[in-house]
Amino acid sequence: MVGASRALAYFGMLEPASLSHGYLFSGQAGVGKKTFARRLAQSLFCRQPKTALLGYDGSCAACTSFLAGSYPDYYESEGRIVIGSAQEAADTGRDGERSESVRERERMESRALVRELQLRPYSGQWRVVVLGDIEFASTEAAHALLRFLEEPPPDVLIVLTTEAPGTLLDTIRSRLIEIPFPPLARDEVERILERDGIDRSRARFAASAAMGSITRARAILDGQETGLREAALTWFEDAISGRTPDSSFLDRASKAADKRRIAGDVLEFVRVFARDWAALQFLGRDAPLLAADLKVRIQRLPKRSRAEAAEILAQIAETQRLANTNVTPSLVLDFLRMRIT
Ligand SMILES: [Zn+2]
Repeated sequence: MVGASRALAYFGMLEPASLSHGYLFSGQAGVGKKTFARRLAQSLFCRQPKTALLGYDGSCAACTSFLAGSYPDYYESEGRIVIGSAQEAADTGRDGERSESVRERERMESRALVRELQLRPYSGQWRVVVLGDIEFASTEAAHALLRFLEEPPPDVLIVLTTEAPGTLLDTIRSRLIEIPFPPLARDEVERILERDGIDRSRARFAASAAMGSITRARAILDGQETGLREAALTWFEDAISGRTPDSSFLDRASKAADKRRIAGDVLEFVRVFARDWAALQFLGRDAPLLAADLKVRIQRLPKRSRAEAAEILAQIAETQRLANTNVTPSLVLDFLRMRIT
């Protein structure tokens, strides 16, 4: 398991008996939240006697069936269901883009979750339910989850993963133990890519632009990410020059969670560009840059006073926090544009 230092430290010290009933793994996409949840589940299912909570032999009957995807006491949702907030439900409903078949699938997934939360372990000591990147509010499923968290059965563990913990209902979030998953280190991303068979120089290039996310590194290798980086730089050029920037990159996605992810990526690029922009002004032309390939364009941007530049950097950090809540992504970007102007 690469990365996940906090989770390894936390669960590494626990015994199965002292596990809580519910955890929230938070952090950006591609830092190992779901992978860790699966390994934690396998650790609980493995029949091999062991003293620590984490670890499995990978070969007992339980491990074999888990790895084959047929272990009966494990449920993992693809996301896209349940338990957002009322605001998010309204957002998703208003655009009317969701087709009847999507709504029907959401209803089915929501009902499946309600059912899952009532089950008890069948073949071993534990049942584990992993809910990834929860997006859409269904009252029925939210109530089922709340009921579950209010009176948790002793032998069922639920793990939620999210990129935006601020979008969860407080009543749900307050009943979970939150474990943050920090961005991966550059060499960790590189190591995962090399393990996947990417050659060293491409792995190094992708890792250096991936900002700690293996998902983003793979998108860079697929050529999907360069467009967004360019869009983010244009956005920042416009904002800092007092023009109204184009935020149409948000239209690449229709789902609220995907729009939020795009806005989060753009904000992270903007943070890097603004940091380089400030470094070039105040440390000089030889300042070490994070986006060295864009030096010429960044140098051409209008200059501001030291105090104003510091304020802009602080506002970007503030906006990144805001982007992890329920505020609509286009409003988040607008907020930052006004602050920069
Ligand atoms: Zn095993």
